[in-house]
Amino acid sequence: MKIQAINGFKDILPDNALLWQHIEQRARDIFQRFGMREIRVPIMEKTDLFVRSIGEATDVVEKEMYTFTEKSITMRPEATASIMRAFIEHGLHVQQPVLRLFTIGPMFRHERPQKGRQRQFHQLDAEIIGAQEPQVDAELIAMGQMLLDELNINTSLEINSLGCTVCRHPYRAKLVKYLEQHHDALCDDCKRRTHTNPLRVLDCKKSTCKALAKDAPSILDSLCENCNEHFSLVQQALQDLGISYTLNRFMVRGLDYYTQTTFEFLTSDLGAQAAVGAGGRYDGLIEQLGGPALPGIGFAMGIERIALLMEQKDDSNRLTQDIDCFIAALGQEASQPCAQLTHQLRLRGIKAAMDYSGRRLKAQMKQANRVHARFVLIVGEDELEQQKAVLRDMKTQEQHSFSLAGSISEQSERLMPLLCA
Ligand code: ATP
Ligand code: MG
Repeated sequence: MKIQAINGFKDILPDNALLWQHIEQRARDIFQRFGMREIRVPIMEKTDLFVRSIGEATDVVEKEMYTFTEKSITMRPEATASIMRAFIEHGLHVQQPVLRLFTIGPMFRHERPQKGRQRQFHQLDAEIIGAQEPQVDAELIAMGQMLLDELNINTSLEINSLGCTVCRHPYRAKLVKYLEQHHDALCDDCKRRTHTNPLRVLDCKKSTCKALAKDAPSILDSLCENCNEHFSLVQQALQDLGISYTLNRFMVRGLDYYTQTTFEFLTSDLGAQAAVGAGGRYDGLIEQLGGPALPGIGFAMGIERIALLMEQKDDSNRLTQDIDCFIAALGQEASQPCAQLTHQLRLRGIKAAMDYSGRRLKAQMKQANRVHARFVLIVGEDELEQQKAVLRDMKTQEQHSFSLAGSISEQSERLMPLLCA
């Protein structure tokens, strides 16, 4: 019986890993342009961290977490809570008033696996802690947009404001009243959510609930003066940066900690999995977790969804992992000096490869092509005797004679400029 991977957990095979490296490198590059510094947090946390931050009555906490009940620990379903935990635990705010952090890694949610939806999935996560200015919201959104643009991914940006504790309470009451009036038309989940987490009803995918949500009161009509002003300044700042967006008056997010600005980068190319990335402001979260009263804003993007979109467009095919020099050692005699030469080249930073089989030239050239070798150095037994090898440029097919005189180290030294030309 063959053992297979767990349902919803996927291998990322070498060809695909190239695409992942490309995405991650682009993300690191762009995040660093915005002054973000990397933080790496553990994959498991105390369950309570997620209950207290994400919220007890959310889908994530209610249904999706991988929790080891005897130990009360949970595989992280997202990164924000862990980053805030680390931020508080290490007193990072003492270093700097505003901290910009990012992390990249696997998250775990027990959901029904589908295209673009897995149980282990990966996020690019960015957070700005300690700044409340609306320009910061716009800057963070612009960073997400820049990444998607540079990866050539088409998304539309939707934004909303969820208000603060001042405006959310009266709004919640209005919404509950509306939902109670339409109680019979709601799905069973939403009947229950009406009192546990009414905002989530606005996000229900069932058609009857969707229809009801259209006429529900919007938080945007209930924003307090402060939140209203903040939200219009966010929009102004987005326009200043040339970021286009649409208002989605009913966007709520699946995590309870959001306040004020929320946003989603959406695609229509992944079926039911519409969100490529999403985020928002979480001004009360750090304090709620026992830290200082500092505001924060962040987003997370799903790497699987980004990778799928790039594969669908064939944008992944151009990526190859090239070898600078393949050394074709023909015959057993050639094997030992070639292995030494390969090692010397590697010491000098060259991506070098050979195989020890002593196979015929044709088979080795095939292998050289397979690994995308830029140059092939052909060393046969005759060549060894005459201290002369052939260097073939695989792009131009030109061949040059290369002298094998002197020590291996001297040979590699002479080879370097030819390979790096
Ligand atoms: P969805 O509505 O698709 O379930 P979400 O609102 O639960 O998304 P977030 O918690 O905001 O997602 O996570 C941010 C991003 O992480 C999503 O936009 C998506 O790209 C990705 N993501 C979330 N859950 C999964 C999953 N199970 N598999 C793959 N990617 C995911
Ligand atoms: Mg979800």
